Amino acid sequence: MALRTIRNVPDPVLRQKAKRVKSLDRSLRQLIADMKETMADANGVGLAATQVGVSLRIIVISVPHKDRKNEEYTIINPEIVRRKGERIVKEGCLSIPGYIGEIRRSEQVRLRGTDIEGKEVKLHAEGLLAEVLEHETDHLNGVLYVDHLESQDKLEKVEPPVPCLNRPLHKTPNPEQ
Ligand code: ZN
Repeated sequence: MALRTIRNVPDPVLRQKAKRVKSLDRSLRQLIADMKETMADANGVGLAATQVGVSLRIIVISVPHKDRKNEEYTIINPEIVRRKGERIVKEGCLSIPGYIGEIRRSEQVRLRGTDIEGKEVKLHAEGLLAEVLEHETDHLNGVLYVDHLESQDKLEKVEPPVPCLNRPLHKTPNPEQ
């Protein structure tokens, strides 16, 4: 495995619509292993292949849980088939270091795709996982979270290096901790 370089804006690969994956050969399995390692190294909760310069429809996700271990997914050709509800979140992106922005995301999403064995994956997600699924699927369509900002004053500069802020953050209505 190896770390790959995360592309930052304005790298044009981040604006490309990624191509569908037809079959997973050895080099793509290597890519997926590298993406997971790169995501973990950057303290990310999700990474799209376009962010490491490969314009293919592959995402990896590792969303933390309070009580149990991370929820991890590798999804090939992901497609969001349904969105429900709306909520305001503060989000960041490994490809836009040093900023977070307030945008609207869905409360729940349904996603379809395949896993690395080629089996169909169906996910019904809410909360942070739903947010990450929307964020990473957007990447595959050349869309960045900053495209969803209602205005530029919804974008905040955060003092780098704060790696934990380079990932989607929850805006909890009732922060207890
Ligand atoms: Zn991102």
